[in-house]
Amino acid sequence: MRTKLALVPRMGLDLAVEEVELAEPKEHEVRLKVMTCTICGSDIHGLKGEHGEYEGAGTAGHEIAGVVDAVGPGVTYAKPGDRVLCSLLRAGCGHCPQCLKGHQWFCENIPPMSFREPSPFTRDNGEAVIQTMSGVSGFAEYTNCHEAMLCKIDGDIPFEIGSVLSCGFMSGFGAVLNRSVLKAAESFAVVGCGGVGLSAIMGAKYSGAVPIIGIDTQPGKLEAAKHFGATHVFNPKEEDVTAEIKKLTGGFGVDQSIVAVAGKGIKKLTWGLTAPWGQMVIVGHGHPRDESLEEFSAFDVLFGKRLTGSVQGNLTLRRDIPRYMEMYRYGQIDVDSLLTHRFSLDQIAEAIDDSMRGALKNVVCIGEPVPAGKQ
Ligand SMILES: [Zn+2]
Ligand SMILES: [Zn+2]
Repeated sequence: MRTKLALVPRMGLDLAVEEVELAEPKEHEVRLKVMTCTICGSDIHGLKGEHGEYEGAGTAGHEIAGVVDAVGPGVTYAKPGDRVLCSLLRAGCGHCPQCLKGHQWFCENIPPMSFREPSPFTRDNGEAVIQTMSGVSGFAEYTNCHEAMLCKIDGDIPFEIGSVLSCGFMSGFGAVLNRSVLKAAESFAVVGCGGVGLSAIMGAKYSGAVPIIGIDTQPGKLEAAKHFGATHVFNPKEEDVTAEIKKLTGGFGVDQSIVAVAGKGIKKLTWGLTAPWGQMVIVGHGHPRDESLEEFSAFDVLFGKRLTGSVQGNLTLRRDIPRYMEMYRYGQIDVDSLLTHRFSLDQIAEAIDDSMRGALKNVVCIGEPVPAGKQ
């Protein structure tokens, strides 16, 4: 079918919307009518080739909520008309050895994550479009994805909230609850206070951490960190963050830290402000060439300091999203305050620019117009 799609003609951020051909959904795929797609730092990294270079046209958009429009052969989870979110995190098959051990991320029956693969879109000049986010492209009116990426969303959950829950929120909040496993009164710091970092702060507050420290170079993000529950905020451009945090923690550093932004030197900084018995969880990542851990010593871990990571908050998709919807419904998580501005699909370049200037989480409203009074 014909659909509008935002794409870059070559690697970079030169986004434009054009009409393209969308293939019919294949086995175990559905066609989604995209209602909202929120913008994530990973979309920007993907389009710029920072998850791996690509040739030719590319597209992105992976924080999707919408309505199932059609189903391909063999689909059992969803039917046309279902309200769903689409997540990079897949629901495992539930019966392979990895699923049975609780590692559904490594399910043997679901396509694995890959940042450069053919999309179902073809340009009118015959060129295939690469999808730079794993298995889905949401900056489009209609798109296809594997049914394992879907989780149904309740009728009272706005699509834009479904979009945020599908990645940004879960990546931060889930990392704290499922990987850090923060305990009440443990100290906590997060480096990077974008959508993921702020969601981590929500997770730390929910877990009873104290102090809760937000670190970022943008003053607006530090203000937001306080809104979501940071007891202290620091700007590495203005102060010696490590020294300040050691002062707050008896000279040792924090019990738990999260890296929620990509960039050279960030992991070293975060490791240095984590206590010798503490744990650092890597969530944010950039180009593989910037992600070497050569600067770490085995002596760093001799006393038990731990370094680990978290992808998509270590969620079990269809178990945890319903829990998060319930928490949202009763005001236990403030996902609304993560949303900054709304844009139409035609305004996507502006939406990405605004995200790069420091917006927390921009929404691209696709299936229906930008709601009045919500720009
Ligand atoms: Zn994301
Ligand atoms: Zn499985």
